[in-house]
Amino acid sequence: MKYVSTRGGIGPISFSEGVMMGLATDGGLLLPAEIPRVSEDTLKTWGELTYPRLALEVMSLFIGDIPREDLEDLVERAYATFDHPRVVPLVKAGGIYIMELFHGPTLAFKDIALQFLGSLFEYLLTRAGSRMNVLGATSGDTGSAAIYGVKGRRNMAIFILHPHGRVSPVQELQMTTVADPHVHNLAIKGTFDDCQAIVKEIFGDLEFKERHSLGAVNSINWARVLAQVVYYVWGYLRLREEGFRGVTYTVPTGNFGNIFAGFVAKRMLPEGAIKRLVLATNENDILYRFITRGDYSLGQVVPTISPSMDIQVASNFERYLYYLWGEDPVRVREGMESFKSKGRLTFSREELEKVRRDFASRAVDQEETLKTIGTFYRETGYILDPHTAVGVTAGLAMREKGMPMVCLATAHPAKFPEAVKRAIGKEPPKPVRIAELEGKERRFQVLPARVEAVKEYIERHAI
Ligand SMILES: *Cc1c(COP(=O)(O)O)cnc(C)c1O
Repeated sequence: MKYVSTRGGIGPISFSEGVMMGLATDGGLLLPAEIPRVSEDTLKTWGELTYPRLALEVMSLFIGDIPREDLEDLVERAYATFDHPRVVPLVKAGGIYIMELFHGPTLAFKDIALQFLGSLFEYLLTRAGSRMNVLGATSGDTGSAAIYGVKGRRNMAIFILHPHGRVSPVQELQMTTVADPHVHNLAIKGTFDDCQAIVKEIFGDLEFKERHSLGAVNSINWARVLAQVVYYVWGYLRLREEGFRGVTYTVPTGNFGNIFAGFVAKRMLPEGAIKRLVLATNENDILYRFITRGDYSLGQVVPTISPSMDIQVASNFERYLYYLWGEDPVRVREGMESFKSKGRLTFSREELEKVRRDFASRAVDQEETLKTIGTFYRETGYILDPHTAVGVTAGLAMREKGMPMVCLATAHPAKFPEAVKRAIGKEPPKPVRIAELEGKERRFQVLPARVEAVKEYIERHAI
């Protein structure tokens, strides 16, 4: 399988080249030259596979330049860190299925992609005899998942900037208790925006970037999307076992990354296997406005109790536009340029019809989200985290008769104890993964919000 850019300036290149490139160097995003189709016969043989085995089969269709035995070892190791024997269990509660994506080391779904990406980077760097210093900024979930993806890997170090004293206690605990000399938590005296601006400026210094082999693990890396395609196939196979021939998925969305993986899976599987994808947003509803009204226009970011979805510009959306616009890179380039200058894109009636064949959407406000956590707990005993609850609220509203609804659970409720407490009057039970960190030494370096201070730190600690 070869890879091309949504803007037509790259490729075809191999999977490995694409992973190392991350963002396409023409400003676009990388995509496989075609999406493979999976036949009924193949699906029959996939029904028995364990999660890592299924990951091997699905990923093999997209990867042409890693030997099968090596890929098998990579996925086995990536998912061995999960603490549920099935890796991604489906739980039936309240008339829906909850697909728990939070059994990885940091208790959020980003582990599924980042555990794989970490082992993949290590493999590719070792093969090429090179090294990488990962640099990123976080307001919470991504940072801890990235640190756990990179820790202990050969030829890799990681520098994560977070706003000092402004990430949630659980997230700070997870990030700062990792005892690995190549994991660097930089607590910046400033806001998350300051952290992001510093990282952006450092990546813009090409000489510095080259000299220290700086790399990113952000959500636009194709390997992250690919790792996420697997669980949409997995969930469908589990429902086939129960006699269903189709499913609808509801996905709490921020960057359009997770739900784009669902779109890829929908195209791979036979017609009707994934009937529809319900895109759930919180008050930051740009994607909801796109699907329901054809209006993709920037708004102000509103902070909510589901912070990992407090996003206005969805970084993976361009990948979907490529398909919506008939795989025409010229159209994508013009569209993205126009969005950059005007801050909005509008869509025709025909385009919207096409969108709605694949997607439906709901925007769910905080009051409704808290209400769902409360009602769902009283009726089923199951505690939802606020991100999952946004999805469950949308999923319950969009159910169709005879069609199973699978809601993606993107975080463990114990990551967001304050919101859960507001909804049900008590904090969720603390999982071992969090409890065992509590007495540990915390390692972080407080730095001023200045590019030079961060660069100097990297100079001294890069591998
Ligand atoms: C990142 C994240 C999301 C949003 O995922 P996208 O891929 O950005 O759509 C939802 N829930 C949680 C808990 C997350 O960490």
